Amino acid sequence: MYKHLFFDLDHTLWDFDRNSAESIAEMYETFQLADVGIESAAEFSKHFIAINKKLWADYDQNLIEHSYIRQHRFPMVYRALGIDEATVKHDLNAEYLRLLPRKPHLLPWAKEVLDHLRDRYTMHIITNGFAEIQAIKMDSAEIAHYFTIVVTSENANAKKPDPLVFEYAMQAAGASVAESLMIGDNYLADIMGAKSVGMDTVFYNPNGLLSNDAPTHDIRHWRELIRIL
Ligand SMILES: [Mg+2]
Repeated sequence: MYKHLFFDLDHTLWDFDRNSAESIAEMYETFQLADVGIESAAEFSKHFIAINKKLWADYDQNLIEHSYIRQHRFPMVYRALGIDEATVKHDLNAEYLRLLPRKPHLLPWAKEVLDHLRDRYTMHIITNGFAEIQAIKMDSAEIAHYFTIVVTSENANAKKPDPLVFEYAMQAAGASVAESLMIGDNYLADIMGAKSVGMDTVFYNPNGLLSNDAPTHDIRHWRELIRIL
Protein backbone atom coordinates (compact mmCIF):
# COMPACT_ATOMS: atom_id res chain seq x y z
CA MET A 1 0.00 0.00 0.00
CA TYR A 2 2.94 2.38 0.55
CA LYS A 3 4.60 3.97 -2.45
CA HIS A 4 6.66 6.72 -0.82
CA LEU A 5 9.09 6.20 2.04
CA PHE A 6 10.26 9.32 3.88
CA PHE A 7 13.43 8.80 5.94
CA ASP A 8 15.01 10.95 8.58
CA LEU A 9 18.82 11.21 8.12
CA ASP A 10 20.75 11.80 11.39
CA HIS A 11 20.70 8.87 13.84
CA THR A 12 18.33 7.04 11.45
CA LEU A 13 20.50 6.25 8.41
CA TRP A 14 23.63 8.27 9.05
CA ASP A 15 25.49 7.14 12.18
CA PHE A 16 25.73 10.53 13.81
CA ASP A 17 27.26 9.33 17.09
CA ARG A 18 30.04 7.33 15.43
CA ASN A 19 30.81 10.05 12.88
CA SER A 20 30.76 12.66 15.59
CA ALA A 21 33.03 10.65 17.90
CA GLU A 22 35.57 10.23 15.07
CA SER A 23 35.53 13.96 14.34
CA ILE A 24 35.92 14.83 18.01
CA ALA A 25 38.81 12.33 18.38
CA GLU A 26 40.64 13.91 15.44
CA MET A 27 40.16 17.37 16.90
CA TYR A 28 41.40 16.14 20.28
CA GLU A 29 44.68 15.11 18.61
CA THR A 30 45.02 18.00 16.14
CA PHE A 31 44.43 20.69 18.74
CA GLN A 32 46.23 18.80 21.53
CA LEU A 33 43.30 19.16 23.89
CA ALA A 34 45.03 17.02 26.50
CA ASP A 35 47.14 20.14 27.12
CA VAL A 36 44.11 22.20 28.19
CA GLY A 37 43.10 19.49 30.66
CA ILE A 38 40.61 17.33 28.76
CA GLU A 39 41.36 13.83 29.95
CA SER A 40 40.60 11.84 26.82
CA ALA A 41 38.89 12.01 23.44
CA ALA A 42 36.21 9.66 24.79
CA GLU A 43 35.48 11.98 27.72
CA PHE A 44 35.32 14.97 25.36
CA SER A 45 33.03 13.09 22.97
CA LYS A 46 30.70 11.85 25.71
CA HIS A 47 30.00 15.38 26.96
CA PHE A 48 29.74 16.76 23.45
CA ILE A 49 27.15 14.16 22.40
CA ALA A 50 24.94 14.78 25.45
CA ILE A 51 25.07 18.58 25.11
CA ASN A 52 24.62 18.58 21.35
CA LYS A 53 21.62 16.25 21.61
CA LYS A 54 19.94 18.48 24.19
CA LEU A 55 20.54 21.59 22.06
CA TRP A 56 19.09 19.92 18.93
CA ALA A 57 16.01 18.86 20.94
CA ASP A 58 15.57 22.49 22.04
CA TYR A 59 15.99 23.58 18.43
CA ASP A 60 13.33 21.09 17.26
CA GLN A 61 10.95 22.65 19.76
CA ASN A 62 11.74 26.20 18.59
CA LEU A 63 13.29 27.12 21.95
CA ILE A 64 16.58 28.25 20.38
CA GLU A 65 17.91 29.34 16.99
CA HIS A 66 20.31 27.25 14.95
CA SER A 67 23.08 29.83 15.46
CA TYR A 68 22.79 29.29 19.23
CA ILE A 69 23.86 25.67 18.80
CA ARG A 70 26.94 26.59 16.76
CA GLN A 71 27.93 29.35 19.14
CA HIS A 72 27.38 27.66 22.48
CA ARG A 73 27.89 23.91 22.22
CA PHE A 74 31.67 23.80 22.64
CA PRO A 75 31.75 26.42 25.43
CA MET A 76 29.09 24.31 27.19
CA VAL A 77 31.30 21.23 26.81
CA TYR A 78 34.30 23.07 28.34
CA ARG A 79 32.15 24.13 31.29
CA ALA A 80 30.88 20.57 31.76
CA LEU A 81 34.50 19.40 31.80
CA GLY A 82 35.58 22.19 34.15
CA ILE A 83 37.88 23.72 31.52
CA ASP A 84 38.50 27.45 31.27
CA GLU A 85 37.35 28.17 27.72
CA ALA A 86 39.86 31.02 27.37
CA THR A 87 42.60 28.35 27.22
CA VAL A 88 41.13 26.87 24.01
CA LYS A 89 42.55 28.93 21.16
CA HIS A 90 41.01 27.13 18.21
CA ASP A 91 37.62 27.46 16.53
CA LEU A 92 36.44 23.97 17.39
CA ASN A 93 32.98 24.49 16.00
CA ALA A 94 34.28 25.46 12.55
CA GLU A 95 36.57 22.44 12.48
CA TYR A 96 33.78 20.15 13.66
CA LEU A 97 31.49 21.42 10.88
CA ARG A 98 34.25 20.76 8.35
CA LEU A 99 35.06 17.24 9.56
CA LEU A 100 31.71 15.81 10.60
CA PRO A 101 29.73 15.80 7.32
CA ARG A 102 32.67 14.19 5.52
CA LYS A 103 32.40 11.04 7.64
CA PRO A 104 30.87 8.07 5.81
CA HIS A 105 29.46 5.75 8.47
CA LEU A 106 25.87 4.56 8.27
CA LEU A 107 24.00 2.60 10.93
CA PRO A 108 24.27 -1.19 10.64
CA TRP A 109 22.37 -2.56 7.65
CA ALA A 110 20.99 0.83 6.60
CA LYS A 111 22.68 0.61 3.20
CA GLU A 112 21.57 -2.99 2.58
CA VAL A 113 18.00 -2.07 3.43
CA LEU A 114 18.05 0.95 1.11
CA ASP A 115 19.36 -1.32 -1.66
CA HIS A 116 16.58 -3.79 -1.02
CA LEU A 117 13.87 -1.09 -1.13
CA ARG A 118 15.12 1.04 -4.01
CA ASP A 119 13.28 -0.77 -6.81
CA ARG A 120 10.06 -1.15 -4.83
CA TYR A 121 9.50 2.36 -3.47
CA THR A 122 10.22 6.01 -4.15
CA MET A 123 12.39 7.19 -1.28
CA HIS A 124 12.90 10.66 0.17
CA ILE A 125 14.61 12.43 3.08
CA ILE A 126 13.02 14.78 5.60
CA THR A 127 15.64 16.34 7.88
CA ASN A 128 15.84 19.22 10.33
CA GLY A 129 19.52 19.57 9.47
CA PHE A 130 20.83 22.18 7.07
CA ALA A 131 20.75 21.62 3.33
CA GLU A 132 24.43 22.20 2.60
CA ILE A 133 25.67 20.01 5.48
CA GLN A 134 23.14 17.23 4.86
CA ALA A 135 24.08 17.08 1.16
CA ILE A 136 27.76 16.56 2.07
CA LYS A 137 26.79 13.80 4.54
CA MET A 138 24.75 11.94 1.91
CA ASP A 139 27.59 12.22 -0.61
CA SER A 140 30.15 11.04 1.95
CA ALA A 141 28.03 8.01 2.82
CA GLU A 142 27.26 7.40 -0.90
CA ILE A 143 23.49 7.35 -0.41
CA ALA A 144 22.37 10.52 -2.23
CA HIS A 145 21.31 8.53 -5.32
CA TYR A 146 18.62 6.61 -3.41
CA PHE A 147 16.48 9.68 -2.76
CA THR A 148 14.18 11.65 -5.03
CA ILE A 149 13.24 14.58 -2.77
CA VAL A 150 15.34 15.97 0.10
CA VAL A 151 13.31 18.22 2.38
CA THR A 152 15.23 20.30 4.91
CA SER A 153 13.95 22.75 7.49
CA GLU A 154 15.27 25.49 5.20
CA ASN A 155 13.31 24.64 2.08
CA ALA A 156 10.12 23.71 3.98
CA ASN A 157 10.49 26.86 6.09
CA ALA A 158 9.46 24.85 9.17
CA LYS A 159 10.87 21.88 11.01
CA LYS A 160 9.69 18.52 12.28
CA PRO A 161 7.40 17.97 14.19
CA ASP A 162 5.57 20.88 12.51
CA PRO A 163 2.87 19.31 10.25
CA LEU A 164 3.82 21.83 7.54
CA VAL A 165 7.08 19.96 6.87
CA PHE A 166 5.28 16.68 6.20
CA GLU A 167 2.64 18.40 4.04
CA TYR A 168 5.41 20.13 2.12
CA ALA A 169 7.31 16.87 1.62
CA MET A 170 4.28 14.93 0.37
CA GLN A 171 3.37 17.73 -2.01
CA ALA A 172 6.92 17.92 -3.35
CA ALA A 173 6.97 14.14 -3.82
CA GLY A 174 3.47 13.98 -5.32
CA ALA A 175 2.48 11.53 -2.59
CA SER A 176 -0.85 11.05 -0.79
CA VAL A 177 -1.00 10.42 2.96
CA ALA A 178 -2.27 6.86 2.46
CA GLU A 179 0.73 5.86 0.34
CA SER A 180 3.33 7.55 2.58
CA LEU A 181 5.39 6.13 5.41
CA MET A 182 7.68 8.15 7.70
CA ILE A 183 10.72 6.37 9.16
CA GLY A 184 12.79 7.98 11.90
CA ASP A 185 14.53 7.70 15.26
CA ASN A 186 13.11 10.78 16.96
CA TYR A 187 9.81 10.01 18.63
CA LEU A 188 8.66 13.60 18.94
CA ALA A 189 9.96 15.06 15.68
CA ASP A 190 9.55 12.11 13.29
CA ILE A 191 6.78 9.96 14.74
CA MET A 192 4.45 12.43 16.44
CA GLY A 193 4.99 14.91 13.62
CA ALA A 194 4.10 12.45 10.86
CA LYS A 195 1.15 11.10 12.87
CA SER A 196 -0.26 14.61 13.16
CA VAL A 197 -0.85 14.66 9.39
CA GLY A 198 -2.13 11.07 9.33
CA MET A 199 0.99 9.35 7.98
CA ASP A 200 1.86 5.82 9.05
CA THR A 201 5.17 5.62 10.89
CA VAL A 202 8.14 3.38 11.60
CA PHE A 203 9.96 4.23 14.82
CA TYR A 204 13.62 3.23 14.40
CA ASN A 205 14.17 2.52 18.07
CA PRO A 206 17.47 0.64 18.60
CA ASN A 207 17.45 1.37 22.35
CA GLY A 208 13.91 0.07 22.87
CA LEU A 209 12.46 3.30 24.27
CA LEU A 210 8.84 3.10 25.36
CA SER A 211 6.31 5.28 23.60
CA ASN A 212 2.84 6.21 24.90
CA ASP A 213 1.25 6.90 21.58
CA ALA A 214 2.30 3.93 19.52
CA PRO A 215 3.91 4.31 16.10
CA THR A 216 2.51 2.07 13.34
CA HIS A 217 5.69 -0.03 13.57
CA ASP A 218 8.50 -0.08 16.11
CA ILE A 219 11.82 -1.64 15.00
CA ARG A 220 15.08 -2.24 16.88
CA HIS A 221 17.11 -3.14 13.82
CA TRP A 222 17.05 -2.16 10.15
CA ARG A 223 16.57 -5.75 9.00
CA GLU A 224 13.10 -5.70 10.60
CA LEU A 225 12.00 -3.10 8.05
CA ILE A 226 12.31 -5.68 5.28
CA ARG A 227 9.67 -7.81 7.00
CA ILE A 228 7.27 -4.86 7.17
CA LEU A 229 7.73 -3.62 3.60
MG1 LIG B 1 17.17 11.70 13.65
